[in-house]
Amino acid sequence: KSSGKGRYEAFQPRHHAAQLDRERLQADLEHALDEEQLVLHYQPLVNLGSGRIDGYEALLRWQHPERGLVPPGDFIPLAEASGLIVPLGRWVLREATRQAATWQQSAEPVGIHVSVNVSVRQFLHPDLLHDVADALHRSALPAHLLTLEITESLFASDTSAVTQKLERLKDVGVRLALDDFGTGYSSLSYLRRFPFDILKIDKSFIEDIDVNRQNQAVASAIVTLGQTLGLGLVAEGIETPGELRSLENLGVHLGQGFHLGRPGPAALVCPQPGMRPTDRRNPGSVGAPMR
Ligand code: C2E
Ligand code: MG
Ligand code: MG
Ligand code: MG
Repeated sequence: KSSGKGRYEAFQPRHHAAQLDRERLQADLEHALDEEQLVLHYQPLVNLGSGRIDGYEALLRWQHPERGLVPPGDFIPLAEASGLIVPLGRWVLREATRQAATWQQSAEPVGIHVSVNVSVRQFLHPDLLHDVADALHRSALPAHLLTLEITESLFASDTSAVTQKLERLKDVGVRLALDDFGTGYSSLSYLRRFPFDILKIDKSFIEDIDVNRQNQAVASAIVTLGQTLGLGLVAEGIETPGELRSLENLGVHLGQGFHLGRPGPAALVCPQPGMRPTDRRNPGSVGAPMR
């Protein structure tokens, strides 16, 4: 406003163009599922004690015919706004559980779990419980090998309905993780009230944790909190050996990040039958954490 009327008018067409672009992307997204343009990439969650892969987080990618690979940050908000997130999320649940069921047939004696992100609108939709149970049924994946990742933004809505749904998901037997912990509407009382199994420490607190005292203090407080409440802890966004060492020293159970393994298509990142995940030596992909 302070820069005057002329500036405002100059800004309008650009705003309009961005709006048009969003509408076009939105229209394309409606066909993405039918056209089989969606794909899941998988990023390993590594046990920081043993170096073994404990599971994978499924991360949605859109292979757009003209734009190339569109990251979820560019289209998940559109899908949330239009409600398309419900069928998209249903597809993610089916595809990720199907994939995880095939991992169980590999030689790995302990189950490899899969984590699926569930957005707020998808969580609140009446179909969610059915969609989760249906995906488990179709895939025959044991329920405890599926983790649903939910963010704190969920707590902005009616908490009694949310609690009820979380409890019913627990009854189904899936694990519940609180994603991006520390960035949202977190009230610590939620941690007592809601039946979470896992806290994922947001990557903003992991950044430079080996040298940044503030981040060290925050992460260490979250670790103590999680341990006291009996929650599993996952550190997101580990990018350097120094960050990894600090988290090992803090006693964090699981880690995830570019330093441990980037997200990639199932065929590239996941274990082949008869192979232990950590036996793989695939440069640029997944392996035991480098030290
Ligand atoms: P998220 O669930 O917190 O997923 C972690 C994000 O951090 C992923 O971004 C991952 O690629 C990225 N990441 C992993 N390691 C590192 C690292 O070392 N450094 C940095 N800078 N980033 C790292 P991505 O795949 O772009 O996904 C972004 C967000 O989109 C996810 O955040 C999640 O909230 C959402 N999302 C992804 N897939 C789905 C889905 O299937 N359904 C829903 N509802 N949301 C999804
Ligand atoms: Mg996540
Ligand atoms: Mg996260
Ligand atoms: Mg980082």
